[in-house]
Parts: sequence; C-alpha cells; structure tokens
Amino acid sequence: MNLTKKILIALVLGVVVGIIFTFIPESVFSNLDMYVLSPVGTIFVNLIMMLVVPIVFVSIVLGTAGLGEPAKLGRIGIQTITFFLVTTALALCISLALAFMIKPGAEGVFDVSVADFEAQEAPPVMETIISIIPKNPVAAMSAGDMLQVIAFAIFIGLALAFLKDKTTGMYRLFEQANEILMFLVNLIMKFAPYGAFALIASAIGGAGLDAIGSMAAYMGTVILGLIVHAALIYSLAIWMLGKANPLTFYKGFFPAMTVAFSTSSSNATLPVSMKVAQENLGVSKSISSFVQPLGATINMDGTAIMQATAAVFIAQVYAIDLGFTEIIAIILTATLASIGTAGVPGVGLIMLAMVLTQIGLPVEGIALIIGIDRLLDMLRTAVNITGDAACAYIISENEKRRDVS
Ligand code: ASP
Repeated sequence: MNLTKKILIALVLGVVVGIIFTFIPESVFSNLDMYVLSPVGTIFVNLIMMLVVPIVFVSIVLGTAGLGEPAKLGRIGIQTITFFLVTTALALCISLALAFMIKPGAEGVFDVSVADFEAQEAPPVMETIISIIPKNPVAAMSAGDMLQVIAFAIFIGLALAFLKDKTTGMYRLFEQANEILMFLVNLIMKFAPYGAFALIASAIGGAGLDAIGSMAAYMGTVILGLIVHAALIYSLAIWMLGKANPLTFYKGFFPAMTVAFSTSSSNATLPVSMKVAQENLGVSKSISSFVQPLGATINMDGTAIMQATAAVFIAQVYAIDLGFTEIIAIILTATLASIGTAGVPGVGLIMLAMVLTQIGLPVEGIALIIGIDRLLDMLRTAVNITGDAACAYIISENEKRRDVS
C-alpha cells in the first residue's frame, strides 16, 4: 500500500477515534493525550521540523543558483510575489462576502460576558519585513527566522550563479546535502501515518463535540471559504495562467495536503510539498525550491480566510457594525497578518489579535473561537501550502513553454 493511502486511513481512523474520545471522561482523555497521542504527534512534527531550516537553506541556494541569470530570478520573483498578493486579496474578498451573507455571529448564543483572552504580542509585521536582511545568518538559522534564512540563501545562490566554474565544488556539496536531506524526508515520512493519527485524534478529542456544535456556523463559513478559494481560484489560475489541468495538479499534490492537514504546519509540510511538486507535478527543482519555501513563510491564503471570517464573526457577536472603511482595513491588515504568520500551528490566531486591534474590535472575542481553532488550522494549512504549490506549478509550466519556444 502506498504512503498516501496509509496516511488517509490514519486520518480517517484519527477522526473516528477523536470523536469516540469526546464521549469518554475528560480525565481519561487528558491522560491518553498526555502520555500517548501528544508525544507521538510531537515526535513526528519535531522530526520533520528538524529538517526545515537546512532544507530551506540548501534548496533556496540551489534554486537561486539554478535559475542562473538575475533576469530570470527577477522575473520569477515578481511573478511569485504578485501571485501571492493577488490570491490573498481574492481569498479575503471571498471570505468577507461569505461571512456577511451567512452571518455566523448572529447564529447561536454566545456568552461574551465570560469571554476572556490575553492577547500575546503579535510580531510587528513592518519590522519583520524591514529586518529581512539578517545581521547574523547563524542566529537567523538558530532562531528559525525563515525570511532571514531565505534572504541569506538567495545571496549565496546568486554568488554561486555568478562564480560558476570557480565554485563547482561548493555547488556539488549543496547538491549532495540536498540528497541527504531528501533521503531523510523519505525516511521520516514512513512514520507519518502514526503521527497523523495521533495529531488528529488529539485535536478532535481536545476540542470536544459541544464546542464544535456551538461553533458550527462559524466553522462552516470558514470551511466554505477555504473550499471555494481552493476549488475556484487556484483551479482558474492553473487553467488560465498555467494552461494546465487543475485536476492533474490536485491529484499530484494531494499527498502533501494530507501532511499539512495532520501537522497544521506549513513549515513542517515544506519538505514533503516540495518533493511532491517536483516528483508528481514535474515542477522544476529550481522553481520549486525558490517559490515554495518563500510561500510557506509569507503566503497564507487559508489563514487570511480564517482571520477575515473571524473578524466579521466577532463584530456580529458583539453587534458592532462594520462599514466600508473597516472592510478595507480588514483586507489590508489581514493581508499583512497572514504574511507575518509563521508556518507553525496556531500562529494565525495570535496574528488575528493584530487585525482585531487595528479595526477596534474586542480582542476577547478570540476566546470564543480558540477551542475549535486547531481543527480549522488543519484545513487552512492545507490551503496555505496548496497556494504555494499552485504558484510554483503555474510558473514552472510557463517557463517550460518559454524554454521550448
Ligand atoms: N498553521 C498555519 C500554517 O502553518 C498558520 C496558521 O494559520 O496558524 O500555515
């Protein structure tokens, strides 16, 4: 049986067992979670996370060096950033339209008097963007600051591209490091079904059916937004911009989506999503290595959808009217917040505090959605990494045609 099938079975079993867990006493579940599910899930996520910084660094160096001329790098860079920004803006429009139509905050009874949420300080987005160039690349790597690691890797890759013959030894070294890392990804993925099972069962058991039931309208609105965005926007983009078949894309990329779904982390999924894009979709190594790590760090359409829906939901629950100015503010701040969201579980919710504060909505409202956010995180992460892969696929298909003509 192939790995994707095994992961899928693990996901289904995880959902079933997770639902069963919602019926057993809380204390039994928390012991099971603490001693079995969480350790297994955490070991799996840590195993992949262990490879993320080296993979991002090595693959972006190789990707940049492989793109060769700076003109090509510039062209692909501009296309990538434009695609990321436009798709995020579209994601926000779709989710806002759905949230205003469905009015999830007007459905059900929410007791806001007990809502309490201590907003953690969201990382300042502008500062993050300004400090993209690392003062100390080693510190950036040890802190896992992806944007800084990416910037440093692009510099090294450019130098390799310029120096060509003088640095073939170093280039070979990076290629061999890449081989080693990919070998390890394959090895770790054998553990994926167990990790996926534990993570899903823990997430569903932890949320509880009552919480899921009372938040059904909000969850439904977010999920609908995610489905519409993934099915419509990415398919149209692949079809119209990439002149390719969206079904081929989804079929080939599906294994990576299952990993994103179980880990709720774009970063942790990155090694797999790059491998799948290159092997199943034929995305060129250099484009995949450049576009996907960048996307896993700054392009989060799924997260933007959650943040916009949550902002409207909280406004509705607190009976606060949102005018045109507030809607524009949601689009702008949620774009920035999703760029600033790190590709690890739950950060989208922390960044939501920034969106709410900017618009003047009560941050305590986050307390209403925190219980079920882990479940939505699984789905939005799958959308987040699909957007990156769609971008890499479209650019790669166009570059192939360019090379032929
Ligand atoms: N978990 C998401 C990701 O890694 C980020 C978030 O929305 O919390 O892509």
